[in-house]
Amino acid sequence: QSNTNLIRATLFPGDGIGPEIAESVRQIFKVAEVPIEWEEHYVGTEIDPRTNSFLTWESLESVRRNKVGLKGPMATPIGKGHRSLNLTLRKELNLYANVRPCYSLPGYKTRYDDVNLITIRENTEGEYSGLEHQVVRGVVESLKIITRQASLRVAEYAFHYAKTHGRERVSAIHKANIMQKTDGLFLKCCREVAEKYPEIKYEEVVIDNCCMMLVKNPALFDVLVMPNLYGDIISDLCAGLIGGLGLTPSCNIGEGGIALAEAVHGSAPDIAGKNLANPTALLLSSVSMLRHLELHDKADRIQDAILKTIAEGKYRTGDLGGTATTTEFTNAICDHL
Ligand code: NAD
Repeated sequence: QSNTNLIRATLFPGDGIGPEIAESVRQIFKVAEVPIEWEEHYVGTEIDPRTNSFLTWESLESVRRNKVGLKGPMATPIGKGHRSLNLTLRKELNLYANVRPCYSLPGYKTRYDDVNLITIRENTEGEYSGLEHQVVRGVVESLKIITRQASLRVAEYAFHYAKTHGRERVSAIHKANIMQKTDGLFLKCCREVAEKYPEIKYEEVVIDNCCMMLVKNPALFDVLVMPNLYGDIISDLCAGLIGGLGLTPSCNIGEGGIALAEAVHGSAPDIAGKNLANPTALLLSSVSMLRHLELHDKADRIQDAILKTIAEGKYRTGDLGGTATTTEFTNAICDHL
């Protein structure tokens, strides 16, 4: 370690707009004097046989060692014989929970102005177990795997999160009336964990009803925990409630206390290299990384500066209806800092 006061964190700038929005994070961290030393890793151009992916073994080791990192979007390379980059990260680092805070940004008008919820998605099994096959011609089968171990782990994370973040309620989202065994086991595990947290209210909501309630009145929810596929869908629905993909951060929690924050959106090849990307999602992800490191002062300062810049409305990127470049928007945030 070159400077003992600095915390080392892994940075994957990623592909497409990734390097542009990562530069925005670097610049803002510098101005805010965040005590982080980045260890940068790029997606390789050749498959690393040790990971069977374009991600190098060294880059995964970097996250394992630092236990904290920030990830830009990664484009999935076309071609066979290697694993998807996001799947490699999820499996190799055992990233079992995807946490997405979703709150209305003051000054940026959408249909709702009181969204303040957290979705927690089980990230390792369920419908994403990759077990699909053809039984006979015209008949295919997909296996949804739910285990007690993974369900308890994500439920425990959700309740612990609620307790440590001053949240009042955890809602388990399910379809156990139809998926009696799988979602039934998921709910059973949530109930077991709920008993250990009597101060947190617990409820169970069927996913179809949950969707209806979310679009009718998102303020009905606080923390939501759910199996993989439901989490994929509901978390994007929630992103839509507050203004879209350019704004929503997330954080992946892994075994042994790893936290890998990432923007929810992809590499946006249509606007890559044009200085047009909105860095807010990656910036807010970096803020959740700072909160994970308990650097709350820095996190608050950066978050306030981002929200003020958006609320002011003078510098907004194209996705928010403005004409500012990534650089102009970033400079405006730095001015607020
Ligand atoms: P995308 O999220 O990259 O783009 C969807 C639309 O949203 C595009 O019009 C894009 O310009 C816009 N957009 C996204 N982020 C934006 C930002 N920060 N500012 C302004 N506009 C933004 O989705 P896609 O086109 O389906 O995927 C492109 C690539 O990204 C694919 O290779 C896909 O596999 C990959 N991807 C990666 C991740 C990840 O790394 N977590 C997630 C999703 C997609």
